[in-house]
Amino acid sequence: MNQPPEIIRASHIERWSDTADVIVVGMGIAGACAALEARRAGADVLVIERASGGGGASALSSGIFYLGGGTAVQQAAGYADTPQAMYDFLMASGISPDPEIVRTFCDGCVAHFDWLEAQGVPFERSYFPGKAVFLTTTTCLMSTGNEKVWPYREVAEPAPRGHKVAREGENAGSLAMEALLARCAESGLRARYDSQVTALVVDDSGRVVGVRYRRGGEDHHAMASKGVILSAGGFNMNKDMLAEHMPHMLGNAEPLGIPYNDGAGILLGQSAGGVTQSMSGVIATASFYPPSQLIKGILVNTRGERFVAEDSYHGRTASFIIEQPGRKAYLILDSEIFAYPELTDFSHHTLVDGWETIEEMEAGLKLPEGSLQSTLAEYNRHAENGQDPLLHKHPDWIKPLNAGPYAAFDVSFNKSVYLYITLGGLKTNARTEVIDQHGEVIPGLYAAGACASSVSRDGKDYASGLSLGPGSFFGRVAGRLAAGT
Ligand SMILES: Cc1cc2nc3c(=O)[nH]c(=O)nc-3n(C[C@H](O)[C@H](O)[C@H](O)COP(=O)(O)OP(=O)(O)OC[C@H]3O[C@@H](n4cnc5c(N)ncnc54)[C@H](O)[C@@H]3O)c2cc1C
Repeated sequence: MNQPPEIIRASHIERWSDTADVIVVGMGIAGACAALEARRAGADVLVIERASGGGGASALSSGIFYLGGGTAVQQAAGYADTPQAMYDFLMASGISPDPEIVRTFCDGCVAHFDWLEAQGVPFERSYFPGKAVFLTTTTCLMSTGNEKVWPYREVAEPAPRGHKVAREGENAGSLAMEALLARCAESGLRARYDSQVTALVVDDSGRVVGVRYRRGGEDHHAMASKGVILSAGGFNMNKDMLAEHMPHMLGNAEPLGIPYNDGAGILLGQSAGGVTQSMSGVIATASFYPPSQLIKGILVNTRGERFVAEDSYHGRTASFIIEQPGRKAYLILDSEIFAYPELTDFSHHTLVDGWETIEEMEAGLKLPEGSLQSTLAEYNRHAENGQDPLLHKHPDWIKPLNAGPYAAFDVSFNKSVYLYITLGGLKTNARTEVIDQHGEVIPGLYAAGACASSVSRDGKDYASGLSLGPGSFFGRVAGRLAAGT
């Protein structure tokens, strides 16, 4: 299904089974934050959730929130980050960023971090200085984006902004959701579980005034006097939408999420006239590091050419790999830095072979004659001086690759398991109001979380935490606004 559902006229509804001030569709991180803020602003809030309880993909997540501007954890780690530095970085690295959305997020981040802690979401005052994809310890702060990657490191002082919730293991997001759902339960808001919102209801002026939902095989209608907040997650489980917007993901890659991340929020918003943006935006990742020594290798395509600075955030690197001819790439190593990639989930263990010389490696990889030899000669010539004038890899990750024997891993898109989440969604303004094709706000309709196109819109500009961070932040914005404060 990739077509919006029908829109329902309020005048056609004979009986409303529920009424509320604010209806929140979906109880992941965005929905929980929206519902909590709307309730605390005095609104009568009804959450309608398709699953048997709240959590969504957010509860499965690694629990990394991208937050900055000088949070308590950043300060404890000795980083004097500022909202301006964060804004400058996100604007410089962003693919069509919305300045108002980015500004609102950056300016509000420190207070938002404090709010999350006040809800009982725990963050340690600890820092991991290395390069990793995620941590399984309770260590909090880590660099999770492209802050140190050229040219961004010259635009804004790099600061680590990935804040991981203090739970061991791979799904620390569950602890964040446990805390937020507990606060929701205490707040007196109402929730209907096992209830799937299937349509929006509008009045004669076009204002969104309610929803239709299906529960126990029956349709019900719920009226929202102040607003409806869409927070139903992304669309990486909707094959029709994937076929339309990113067909190469189908069959090749693994969606990260829950079955109900089927684009319902986006399609509901479209039914009321909402427009979408960045629908081909995807963070698909198959990191070749850790161990971080592999970053000292180089990536080449089937032309034997480098195409991305290897110290980029793994999602950015993956986006570039996907763009290469045949979506193919090889990681080239010498004997001093050789190691097997550690993240077995990504199945990056396709060691092609080992070779005594670069000429033999070039032939073994079936690269054009002379291509890899010339790429490595050029790379090594500058690497002797710790430089990379072609792609500006940071000197920390540069060494000449001249200690044979050599080895190559096949990191091609179809040879590794790329895990992905969708980044496109409903177009909103910084107030989370859904925008129509004329650039006008649709009265009564708000969107936050993965069903909205927010701060990050492309794998090249993503940083770990740019879903939970903005999703929780703008969920709160939506809740307050819909409640009328
Ligand atoms: C394994 C994994 C690790 C991740 N790690 C991170 C990370 O560390 N940091 C980060 O920022 N992001 C991470 N992500 C991505 C992030 O978790 C999601 O993008 C984010 O949680 C989306 O939040 P959400 O509130 O928009 O949607 P969700 O949390 O998915 O919530 C949406 C809710 O809406 C409900 N719903 C759907 N359709 C309907 C309907 N029609 N009617 C009623 N309810 C409906 C769903 O059941 C669900 O409960 C990770 C994702 C996964 C799966």
